[in-house]
Amino acid sequence: MRYRSLFLLAASAAIALSAAALAQNKPEDTEVWTPVPSVVTPGAAVAVAPPSDAIVVFDGKNLDEWVTANDTAKPAGWTVANGILTVKKDAGNIQTKRSFTDYQLHIEWKIPAGITGEGQYRGNSGVFLASTGAGDAGYELQVLDSFVNKTYVNGQAGSIYKQAAPLVNACRKPGEWQSYDVAWSAPRFAPGGALQSPARVTVLQNGVLIQNNFELKGETTFIGAPSYQAHGPSPIKLQAHGDPSAPISFRNIWVRDLAKN
Ligand code: MG
Repeated sequence: MRYRSLFLLAASAAIALSAAALAQNKPEDTEVWTPVPSVVTPGAAVAVAPPSDAIVVFDGKNLDEWVTANDTAKPAGWTVANGILTVKKDAGNIQTKRSFTDYQLHIEWKIPAGITGEGQYRGNSGVFLASTGAGDAGYELQVLDSFVNKTYVNGQAGSIYKQAAPLVNACRKPGEWQSYDVAWSAPRFAPGGALQSPARVTVLQNGVLIQNNFELKGETTFIGAPSYQAHGPSPIKLQAHGDPSAPISFRNIWVRDLAKN
């Protein structure tokens, strides 16, 4: 009887623990609200033309270098007009045809003037530094209007979503073009799939350092802790976020493939 009671006690404790674990699985659990990164006003914008060894993946003309992320046989369905790429939310995420391991990326983005909404519902998009599957699978560098827009700091513009707030808030206001310059070091995995070395990222926003060789804990997750799953060279993906605010735009996107240097 004594052992049976102990067993029942252990079993009910285990059930209580797993119920607690389930109860903890909420998006809010991985939101961080403080400290709020200080505001740094970036210097005047300077056009950064691609260097000689860059692979230009968007030059303002077409989406020949891109496909639909959820169906890679399908062309990318976003809008190209006047040299600018604008998100078409119902067409879903788009990703590069090419795959990369370590690279340098330059990308410019603009929140439309007169953007509406608040928090995560105000100009939300994202750059997945490696797309590891359909939907939002991968490692997201957040794009959002964070000029004046309160949200959790590890979800504001320039965050590695739900892992690292930007070091400072270097956002320009809606209606102005902004840039990300990224140095991405992909994670490495052993043949059996075990993590050998984590991903690392450095990001400048509008010429200001906002992520400094940050070591990622794994792939971006909306709920729960990030974790790694083995993958090889991966496309770069742009997010069509479902928030109802006006779609944002991109231009001048180029990559320097560091494997080739
Ligand atoms: Mg996003």
